[in-house]
Amino acid sequence: MGEAKVYVTRLRNQVDLRRLAFTKPTGGAENCIFCQIVSRRSPSNVVYEDERHIAFLDIYPFSRGHTLVCPKEHGETIWDMGETDIAELFQVASKVSKAVVAAVQADGFRFVQNNGEAANQVVAHVHVHVIPVKMEDRGRFTDRKRFTPDEMEETARLIRSELADN
Ligand code: 5GP
Ligand code: ZN
Repeated sequence: MGEAKVYVTRLRNQVDLRRLAFTKPTGGAENCIFCQIVSRRSPSNVVYEDERHIAFLDIYPFSRGHTLVCPKEHGETIWDMGETDIAELFQVASKVSKAVVAAVQADGFRFVQNNGEAANQVVAHVHVHVIPVKMEDRGRFTDRKRFTPDEMEETARLIRSELADN
Protein backbone atom coordinates (compact mmCIF):
# COMPACT_ATOMS: atom_id res chain seq x y z
CA MET A 1 0.00 0.00 0.00
CA GLY A 2 1.38 3.46 -0.96
CA GLU A 3 2.05 6.10 1.68
CA ALA A 4 -0.83 8.32 0.53
CA LYS A 5 -3.29 5.43 0.75
CA VAL A 6 -2.09 4.48 4.23
CA TYR A 7 -2.56 8.09 5.33
CA VAL A 8 -6.08 8.30 3.88
CA THR A 9 -7.03 4.99 5.54
CA ARG A 10 -5.63 6.22 8.85
CA LEU A 11 -7.47 9.53 8.53
CA ARG A 12 -10.73 7.76 7.71
CA ASN A 13 -10.33 5.51 10.75
CA GLN A 14 -9.70 8.51 13.00
CA VAL A 15 -12.84 10.22 11.74
CA ASP A 16 -14.91 7.08 12.18
CA LEU A 17 -13.53 6.45 15.65
CA ARG A 18 -14.40 9.98 16.71
CA ARG A 19 -17.94 9.49 15.48
CA LEU A 20 -18.11 6.28 17.49
CA ALA A 21 -16.89 7.93 20.70
CA PHE A 22 -19.36 7.18 23.46
CA THR A 23 -19.75 7.90 27.12
CA LYS A 24 -17.92 5.38 29.23
CA PRO A 25 -19.95 4.55 32.31
CA THR A 26 -17.26 2.20 33.56
CA GLY A 27 -14.53 4.88 33.24
CA GLY A 28 -11.76 2.71 31.76
CA ALA A 29 -10.13 -0.58 32.78
CA GLU A 30 -9.75 0.27 36.49
CA ASN A 31 -13.48 0.49 37.04
CA CYS A 32 -14.55 -1.93 34.33
CA ILE A 33 -17.04 -4.50 35.57
CA PHE A 34 -15.89 -7.10 33.03
CA CYS A 35 -12.22 -6.63 34.05
CA GLN A 36 -13.40 -7.22 37.61
CA ILE A 37 -15.11 -10.42 36.48
CA VAL A 38 -11.91 -11.52 34.68
CA SER A 39 -9.87 -10.99 37.86
CA ARG A 40 -12.61 -12.50 40.06
CA ARG A 41 -13.03 -9.28 42.01
CA SER A 42 -16.69 -9.56 40.96
CA PRO A 43 -18.68 -12.79 40.90
CA SER A 44 -20.24 -14.25 37.75
CA ASN A 45 -21.32 -17.60 36.34
CA VAL A 46 -18.25 -18.46 34.29
CA VAL A 47 -18.84 -21.09 31.60
CA TYR A 48 -15.55 -20.98 29.70
CA GLU A 49 -12.07 -19.63 30.18
CA ASP A 50 -8.76 -19.85 28.39
CA GLU A 51 -5.59 -17.78 28.60
CA ARG A 52 -7.05 -14.87 26.63
CA HIS A 53 -10.84 -15.22 26.83
CA ILE A 54 -13.63 -15.60 29.33
CA ALA A 55 -17.33 -16.40 28.86
CA PHE A 56 -19.97 -15.95 31.56
CA LEU A 57 -23.75 -15.71 31.81
CA ASP A 58 -25.34 -12.32 31.22
CA ILE A 59 -26.75 -11.13 34.53
CA TYR A 60 -29.93 -9.89 32.84
CA PRO A 61 -30.44 -12.38 30.01
CA PHE A 62 -32.72 -12.22 26.99
CA SER A 63 -33.10 -15.99 27.27
CA ARG A 64 -31.83 -18.81 29.46
CA GLY A 65 -28.20 -19.41 28.53
CA HIS A 66 -27.51 -15.87 27.25
CA THR A 67 -23.71 -15.71 27.50
CA LEU A 68 -21.12 -12.99 27.02
CA VAL A 69 -17.79 -13.90 25.44
CA CYS A 70 -14.96 -11.43 26.10
CA PRO A 71 -11.27 -11.02 25.50
CA LYS A 72 -9.59 -10.77 28.91
CA GLU A 73 -7.59 -7.79 27.77
CA HIS A 74 -9.54 -4.55 28.20
CA GLY A 75 -10.55 -2.81 25.00
CA GLU A 76 -13.65 -0.74 24.52
CA THR A 77 -14.80 -1.62 21.03
CA ILE A 78 -13.90 -4.21 18.44
CA TRP A 79 -11.77 -1.55 16.71
CA ASP A 80 -9.40 -1.63 19.68
CA MET A 81 -8.53 -5.22 18.73
CA GLY A 82 -6.20 -6.62 16.10
CA GLU A 83 -7.74 -8.70 13.32
CA THR A 84 -6.25 -11.97 14.58
CA ASP A 85 -7.67 -11.31 18.04
CA ILE A 86 -11.09 -10.56 16.53
CA ALA A 87 -10.98 -13.85 14.62
CA GLU A 88 -10.01 -15.72 17.80
CA LEU A 89 -12.81 -14.07 19.78
CA PHE A 90 -15.39 -15.26 17.25
CA GLN A 91 -13.85 -18.73 17.17
CA VAL A 92 -14.37 -18.92 20.93
CA ALA A 93 -17.88 -17.46 20.58
CA SER A 94 -18.71 -20.12 17.99
CA LYS A 95 -17.47 -22.90 20.27
CA VAL A 96 -19.41 -21.48 23.22
CA SER A 97 -22.57 -21.09 21.08
CA LYS A 98 -22.65 -24.84 20.37
CA ALA A 99 -22.50 -25.62 24.09
CA VAL A 100 -25.12 -22.97 24.93
CA VAL A 101 -27.57 -24.23 22.29
CA ALA A 102 -27.11 -27.83 23.43
CA ALA A 103 -27.37 -26.97 27.13
CA VAL A 104 -30.68 -25.10 26.88
CA GLN A 105 -32.00 -27.12 23.92
CA ALA A 106 -32.40 -24.04 21.77
CA ASP A 107 -33.23 -24.10 18.07
CA GLY A 108 -30.88 -21.32 17.03
CA PHE A 109 -28.84 -18.46 18.41
CA ARG A 110 -27.89 -14.86 17.80
CA PHE A 111 -24.50 -13.20 17.99
CA VAL A 112 -24.91 -9.55 19.01
CA GLN A 113 -21.88 -7.30 19.27
CA ASN A 114 -22.58 -3.68 20.19
CA ASN A 115 -20.03 -0.89 19.60
CA GLY A 116 -20.67 2.64 20.81
CA GLU A 117 -23.46 4.45 22.53
CA ALA A 118 -25.63 4.62 19.42
CA ALA A 119 -25.52 0.83 19.27
CA ASN A 120 -26.55 0.75 22.94
CA GLN A 121 -23.20 -0.54 24.19
CA VAL A 122 -23.53 -0.27 27.96
CA VAL A 123 -20.36 -2.03 29.13
CA ALA A 124 -17.24 -0.52 27.56
CA HIS A 125 -15.29 -3.80 27.36
CA VAL A 126 -15.59 -5.73 24.08
CA HIS A 127 -18.03 -8.63 24.29
CA VAL A 128 -20.02 -10.89 22.01
CA HIS A 129 -23.51 -11.81 23.15
CA VAL A 130 -24.51 -15.41 22.47
CA ILE A 131 -28.28 -15.45 22.74
CA PRO A 132 -30.00 -18.81 22.30
CA VAL A 133 -33.46 -18.71 20.66
CA LYS A 134 -36.30 -21.19 20.57
CA MET A 135 -38.64 -21.77 17.67
CA GLU A 136 -41.55 -20.36 19.69
CA ASP A 137 -39.70 -16.99 19.84
CA ARG A 138 -38.90 -17.12 16.14
CA GLY A 139 -37.93 -13.69 14.80
CA ARG A 140 -38.90 -11.94 18.03
CA PHE A 141 -36.68 -10.05 20.44
CA THR A 142 -37.93 -11.18 23.83
CA ASP A 143 -37.86 -9.19 27.09
CA ARG A 144 -35.00 -9.68 29.51
CA LYS A 145 -35.52 -12.42 32.08
CA ARG A 146 -34.65 -12.90 35.72
CA PHE A 147 -33.44 -16.25 37.05
CA THR A 148 -32.57 -17.17 40.60
CA PRO A 149 -28.87 -17.59 41.48
CA ASP A 150 -29.45 -21.37 41.64
CA GLU A 151 -31.07 -21.40 38.20
CA MET A 152 -28.19 -19.33 36.78
CA GLU A 153 -25.58 -21.67 38.25
CA GLU A 154 -27.45 -24.74 36.98
CA THR A 155 -27.53 -23.24 33.46
CA ALA A 156 -23.81 -22.44 33.68
CA ARG A 157 -23.09 -25.98 34.88
CA LEU A 158 -24.94 -27.45 31.88
CA ILE A 159 -22.98 -25.23 29.46
CA ARG A 160 -19.66 -26.13 31.14
CA SER A 161 -20.52 -29.79 30.90
CA GLU A 162 -21.35 -29.48 27.16
CA LEU A 163 -17.99 -27.75 26.63
CA ALA A 164 -16.18 -30.47 28.55
CA ASP A 165 -17.77 -33.14 26.34
CA ASN A 166 -16.62 -31.52 23.09
P1 5GP B 1 -24.04 -4.22 25.89
O1 5GP B 1 -25.35 -3.46 25.81
O2 5GP B 1 -22.91 -3.37 26.42
O3 5GP B 1 -23.73 -4.90 24.58
O4 5GP B 1 -24.31 -5.39 26.90
C1 5GP B 1 -23.82 -5.45 28.20
C2 5GP B 1 -24.45 -6.65 28.86
O5 5GP B 1 -23.78 -6.86 30.08
C3 5GP B 1 -25.95 -6.48 29.19
O6 5GP B 1 -26.71 -7.47 28.51
C4 5GP B 1 -26.00 -6.62 30.70
O7 5GP B 1 -27.12 -7.35 31.15
C5 5GP B 1 -24.69 -7.32 31.04
N1 5GP B 1 -24.11 -6.97 32.32
C6 5GP B 1 -23.98 -5.72 32.83
N2 5GP B 1 -23.37 -5.78 34.05
C7 5GP B 1 -23.12 -7.08 34.30
C8 5GP B 1 -22.51 -7.77 35.39
O8 5GP B 1 -22.08 -7.19 36.39
N3 5GP B 1 -22.42 -9.12 35.29
C9 5GP B 1 -22.89 -9.80 34.20
N4 5GP B 1 -22.75 -11.14 34.21
N5 5GP B 1 -23.46 -9.19 33.14
C10 5GP B 1 -23.58 -7.83 33.19
ZN1 ZN C 1 -12.52 -4.15 30.98
